[in-house]
Amino acid sequence: MVDRLAPALDLYEFQGKELFRRFGIPVSDGRLATTPEATRSAAQELGGPVVVKAQVLIGGRGKAGGIKLAETPDDAEERAREILGMDIRGHTVRKVWIEKASEIAREYYLSITFDRGAKKPLLMFTTRGGIDIEEVAASSPDALARLHVDPLAGYHPWQGRRLVYDSGLEDLSEQKQVVQIVGRLYEAFTGSDAMLCEINPLIVTTEGEVRALDSKFTVDDNALFRLPEIAAMRDLDAADPLEALAREKGVTYVKLDGEVGVLGNGAGLTMATVDVVTFAGGRPSNFCDLGGGGDAQGVVDALEVITGDPQVRSIFFNIFGGITRCDEVARGILQALERMQVEQPLVVRLDGTNAEEGRRLLRDAASENLHVEPTMLDAARRAVELAV
Ligand code: GDP
Ligand code: MN
Repeated sequence: MVDRLAPALDLYEFQGKELFRRFGIPVSDGRLATTPEATRSAAQELGGPVVVKAQVLIGGRGKAGGIKLAETPDDAEERAREILGMDIRGHTVRKVWIEKASEIAREYYLSITFDRGAKKPLLMFTTRGGIDIEEVAASSPDALARLHVDPLAGYHPWQGRRLVYDSGLEDLSEQKQVVQIVGRLYEAFTGSDAMLCEINPLIVTTEGEVRALDSKFTVDDNALFRLPEIAAMRDLDAADPLEALAREKGVTYVKLDGEVGVLGNGAGLTMATVDVVTFAGGRPSNFCDLGGGGDAQGVVDALEVITGDPQVRSIFFNIFGGITRCDEVARGILQALERMQVEQPLVVRLDGTNAEEGRRLLRDAASENLHVEPTMLDAARRAVELAV
């Protein structure tokens, strides 16, 4: 729950590789396509054998048949026909990335994650790449070299050398290339406010060149305001449609799985509202924070998002008036209800500044759909009762 309230932006492989390229990490030349015909032209432009790769925000595409080699443009078109529209563990493939096929001699693994326990970025490298890293960590933990970087001291090349030395990598040219990539990946990680940068596999070609063959890149949502180019990479089609609608309207909304819609003002109160609904024996259908305001438009926007979920049976409106007075919020609610049709019963609890007047306004409106309750617990019980 808390993790989902601090959402992160996962990038597609082709987007992560674009960032890698900008930070000087070697990647293969490639093109994006959404149709088999465009895949053929892309393969033609690239020349020679290519690999057609499903772009979905989930790993294990290779095993699922979402990655295929193609010798010719005709072949590439055929492969795209097979891959586009494919379902990979609940993710529909709408885009493919076509890149020059690599001749792989060896597959390594390199990543940087944010280690919350240590409060430091953690570098990990192993020469046993290509496969599930959890498997390596479990079966041969010694093969996985790990090193923390102090964010204040920053990254220093000796750390990359240390990491590579600890992994047992012996080839001098490979050592040098990997160390350089570690440094650049650290720059990509900090420069993009990433929470995860993973290259699996980091390959060595038959020519001895080290290159990123895959990319997993997760960026901290809270940093997107200062990273407009990365923020624009978000794929709204892939998100939950209600969460996408909420984002569009500027409503802070997280979809949950129950029947009681929750609308509060302030993140803390809204979290408490989710808890109290559960305490009263109900299941919240969402988390929705109205923020500081309570104007009619804000209420309309929030209610539109909440009622867009067909599971919602009742809505619990929990307001504590501070700077935003309860009478203002009550007027906002009444205006919102004039502007839109809400079928579900609405239970309102108002407390704080001008609560009396707010409640009076709501009662005077005498709408059958509107239930005013004196306390948070009463309101939660009522909302749960009305949801069955
Ligand atoms: P994932 O399955 O989602 O992790 O996708 P990857 O991009 O990591 O690809 C999975 C596997 O496909 C890799 O480990 C490679 O073995 C293989 N593969 C991907 N691209 C190429 C390529 O250009 N040439 C060759 N020979 N194999 C590739
Ligand atoms: Mn991979």
